[in-house]
Amino acid sequence: MNELDTEREYKHFLRYDQSCFDGIEYGFTDLFFDFNQTTMFIKEFDHRNKEEIELQFPLKSEDVNIIVELKDFLITIMSDRYNFVGTPVFVQSRIFTKASFDEMLKQGIILMHEKYDLAIKQNAENELIKYCKSIGLNPEPEGSSPTNWEANCLSGGQHRLMISTKSNEWGCGYCKRKGDINLLREWYESKKNVV
Ligand SMILES: [Zn+2]
Repeated sequence: MNELDTEREYKHFLRYDQSCFDGIEYGFTDLFFDFNQTTMFIKEFDHRNKEEIELQFPLKSEDVNIIVELKDFLITIMSDRYNFVGTPVFVQSRIFTKASFDEMLKQGIILMHEKYDLAIKQNAENELIKYCKSIGLNPEPEGSSPTNWEANCLSGGQHRLMISTKSNEWGCGYCKRKGDINLLREWYESKKNVV
């Protein structure tokens, strides 16, 4: 048994589901929490992937308001579109009402847009992003960090190219290709010559 499990006394605080336009049932997720004087512990059980993960967050002060901390945690995960298939939907909670869940979701989406705008602003002059744009790959912020971007793959396949504006490198797991702007330019030119 996991040592963390025996030490913690997790309390359930939210079950949410995901609604998706494709109508597929993805399965709900249960969230549990515990905390001590310095740390908030979150346990997440994802019934879709049958996956259990544990997270830890340092707390700022000892007289912590755990409800505020849980809200911050939820707003942050709601602000990353890759955490959900479609939209998170309230199922049940002993702590939050559906109305407060919906309010957090609204704030999460505002934060998502702020992060998107920040990524656009910070990378307006990035050469790799500008090059991807110029050859029609439609680069966009990926959402998890302002330096993580994605674009249509140059291969023309139905998958995405990952771009980091921190290392100024791109990569495609499907095509097993990666490199800097010069290697992308080379790939583009070699494709052009074939056509
Ligand atoms: Zn590819």
